[in-house]
Amino acid sequence: MTKNITIIGAGLAGLTLARVLHVHGIASTVYEGDPSADARLQGGMLDIHDYNGQLAMKDAGLYEAFTQLIHPGGEVTRVYNKSGEVLFQDVEDGTGNRPEVLRGELRRILLESLPTETVKWGHKVTNIRSLGNGQHAVTFANGASVTSHLLVGADGAWSKVRSLLSDAKPVYTGNVYVETWLHDADNRHPASALAVGGGSMFAVAPGKGILAHREPGSVLHTYVCLSRSEAWVSNTDFKSPAVIAEVIAEFEGWAPELLALITDSDAPATFRPVYSLPYEHRWSRIPGVTLVGDASHLLAPNGEGANLALFDGAELGKAIATHPDDIESALAYYEKQLFPRCAFVSAETKVLLETLFGSAAPHSLVDMLMGIQPVRG
Ligand SMILES: Cc1cc2nc3c(=O)[nH]c(=O)nc-3n(C[C@H](O)[C@H](O)[C@H](O)COP(=O)(O)OP(=O)(O)OC[C@H]3O[C@@H](n4cnc5c(N)ncnc54)[C@H](O)[C@@H]3O)c2cc1C
Repeated sequence: MTKNITIIGAGLAGLTLARVLHVHGIASTVYEGDPSADARLQGGMLDIHDYNGQLAMKDAGLYEAFTQLIHPGGEVTRVYNKSGEVLFQDVEDGTGNRPEVLRGELRRILLESLPTETVKWGHKVTNIRSLGNGQHAVTFANGASVTSHLLVGADGAWSKVRSLLSDAKPVYTGNVYVETWLHDADNRHPASALAVGGGSMFAVAPGKGILAHREPGSVLHTYVCLSRSEAWVSNTDFKSPAVIAEVIAEFEGWAPELLALITDSDAPATFRPVYSLPYEHRWSRIPGVTLVGDASHLLAPNGEGANLALFDGAELGKAIATHPDDIESALAYYEKQLFPRCAFVSAETKVLLETLFGSAAPHSLVDMLMGIQPVRG
């Protein structure tokens, strides 16, 4: 195959696509805006599902390497009410279908599986121009440019490639996630470490919650979820001590070991307003360009985003390998599967958010986990 396959973004979606193409003997180039692989922290634990993320790792020929990354005990889940009473707890019996791995480690094995020249770091896309016949001229901030025969937007939430296909823009969901970290937790924060346990912990109430998981090295990584207006997001200085005081006040009266996950953070809190593309985002076929991962279907955190990114990358890679001389057929086949897949996950996300933070929380979450209200996400 002599066509120039240009992938924008070296996240999980772009790297999986490049890897699956490589497995099939097809070369591609990944252009990434970050200057190097470790320019940014890659975030916490991801549960990788047997019906999408794990299948992608198999297609990438990396399943064995993936199993070496699994955090033992990571699948145990607990649910608390705000007083710190355990409402639900499952056991880790080794038969779980969604093992936990560190996102940075998953990205590392994908990167290490590619020829070194595949990823071009420090290439931030600034402009894309259609040349007709499915070709695109892509220009980078460093002055370089390239002409693609196939351009794949794996460039995440704020994708530049997406504007070639659709006018859709991410919209603020009304929720802010605040991330905190307790280090050496078993020694320094034993009550919180005991509350989180070996896996994940959800303490939720209508409109808010404290969600935490244990990472290797006795780290407790917490996501505090709050409802806030768009005006609040625009007018708040996230570095000001007053804003973390406001977050703490939101959880006044909650059990001390839960509250300590916020108050005792060993690193400054990170604020993440949550954005989503319109549910069931789709586009009409335009020659020579498509999207994978968040660029295609950014949703509020739902436990599926990274899994779908891996899966999209693998599915597109296989579609190209099946139609090596007919890129349009490959893209048409890929998108025909992609759109219903996204519609299904969008519908599940609505239900999951209501389950987590709706008026019946935390009992709605307990019901879901006990299979009374089955939701996959
Ligand atoms: C708080 C939070 C928690 C989450 N937890 C989970 C979870 O537990 N499980 C789960 O499955 N998912 C989770 N997700 C979702 C998951 O992180 C994403 O869905 C997934 O990372 C998307 O991967 P991606 O490769 O599509 O995009 P990204 O990982 O965003 O990668 C995009 C890449 O493109 C690069 N890029 C962007 N613009 C340009 C440009 N102009 N030029 C060149 N390069 C560019 C970026 O630097 C980046 O490296 C969570 C998300 C958030 C915000």
